[in-house]
Amino acid sequence: MKTIDNIKDLRAQVKAWKLQDLTIAFVPTMGNLHDGHLALVKAAHKHADKVIVSIFVNPMQFGLSEDIDNYPKTLAEDKANLVQVDTDLLFTPTADIIYPKGYTDNSYVEVPNISSLHCGASRPGHFRGVATVVCKLFNLVQPDVACFGSKDYQQLQVIEAMVEDLSMPVKIVPVEIIRETSGLAMSSRNGYLTPEEMAIAPNLYKTMQWLSERLQDTAQARDYAALVMQASEKIEKAGMKVDYINLCHAKTLEPVAPNDKEIVILVAAYLGKARLIDNMPVSLN
Ligand code: AMP
Repeated sequence: MKTIDNIKDLRAQVKAWKLQDLTIAFVPTMGNLHDGHLALVKAAHKHADKVIVSIFVNPMQFGLSEDIDNYPKTLAEDKANLVQVDTDLLFTPTADIIYPKGYTDNSYVEVPNISSLHCGASRPGHFRGVATVVCKLFNLVQPDVACFGSKDYQQLQVIEAMVEDLSMPVKIVPVEIIRETSGLAMSSRNGYLTPEEMAIAPNLYKTMQWLSERLQDTAQARDYAALVMQASEKIEKAGMKVDYINLCHAKTLEPVAPNDKEIVILVAAYLGKARLIDNMPVSLN
């Protein structure tokens, strides 16, 4: 696996592969890789000849009070893991390389509507930071395909909207959520949890399963607000602080409407030093 930390060498390698008619799949990450990230790399191999992974902790998507300085950095382990899944190229730029003028003076990409909902409401500017860095990385890597985890469901919808709205020549491939056996979605932020909190965290998934079953049970009155309230109480009772639990249209992420069939449960909750997010698509018939 080749590791490149600058734009010139990256562009030269991408150009060389394009001249050989090789296709490129791209997996953007912030590092501290786990099996969820590696599943994206494995999926990427099914879609292209070469796989490029980036590790970049993007300052533009973190709020001023957020945890960027303490974001876990494990480059040596990450490299070893990426070699195991046959990554062709790892791109590891610094913030100076990505934002030479500083990110506050950088042009930006804003996907309207969807970016202000859910996590966007709790983390103002977050999805502007995500869309901007992904756009920039797409321009550098020029991938044919890019793989994103469904774990970050709203992020995936934001990226799909950006690609469609701006006619970017990239196919977005969603990859399903990889979970611990407890049901907890794998996340770099799980590293912030104490052993006691690790025992509490799977209640997020369990509560979504509970809610999903009730939503699909046509014998039960579809009082969404009451069901969401009960689900929220379950999460709080388990020892977490709910940021939001929302039922939404699976694509627009607008609040669920009476005739919506494909919906998604989106949840975010605080536990100790971590803010955990998870989701579960639900088909209503
Ligand atoms: P991150 O490093 O957290 O920015 O994540 C990089 C990519 O990995 C994103 O597309 C995430 O959605 C994806 N990802 C993170 N955790 C998981 C998981 N448990 N299952 C599947 N994909 C994941």
